Amino acid sequence: MSNGKSYKGGCFCGAVQFTVSGEPVGMGYCHCESCRHWSAGPVNAFTLWKPDAVKVTRGADNIGTYNKTPRSYRKWCKTCGGHIFTEHPTMGLTDVYAAVIPGLPYKAGVHVHYQETVLRIKDGMPKMKDVPKEMGGSGASLAE
Ligand SMILES: [Zn+2]
Ligand SMILES: [Zn+2]
Repeated sequence: MSNGKSYKGGCFCGAVQFTVSGEPVGMGYCHCESCRHWSAGPVNAFTLWKPDAVKVTRGADNIGTYNKTPRSYRKWCKTCGGHIFTEHPTMGLTDVYAAVIPGLPYKAGVHVHYQETVLRIKDGMPKMKDVPKEMGGSGASLAE
């Protein structure tokens, strides 16, 4: 925690509250079918954190979990159904949805799983076919 910053987050109804501390490991947009289907949206704005940077401060027993694959444990509030974050145990990272931490200065650095996109975004940011090599992907880029 080099800068000592922390940001408050919460679900749609506020029953679940948490903080994220320090700086995210990465930020960007995911276009994958899983994110789209689960979120019911065309694209998912993510921020990735080391798991110990994410602390639930209220409503821990109100968090539901679903994992379709061992790579993603998706978490939501059992009261409002609002999504909060997804744990990626195999990557050792937690994806906190940018929309639930409004105080964080969000700055996307990359688009991932762009081969699955349904909404092309011409913002000049790199478009990864899947994910970067260091995250176990091909590292290949696509045109916008
Ligand atoms: Zn809620
Ligand atoms: Zn995704």
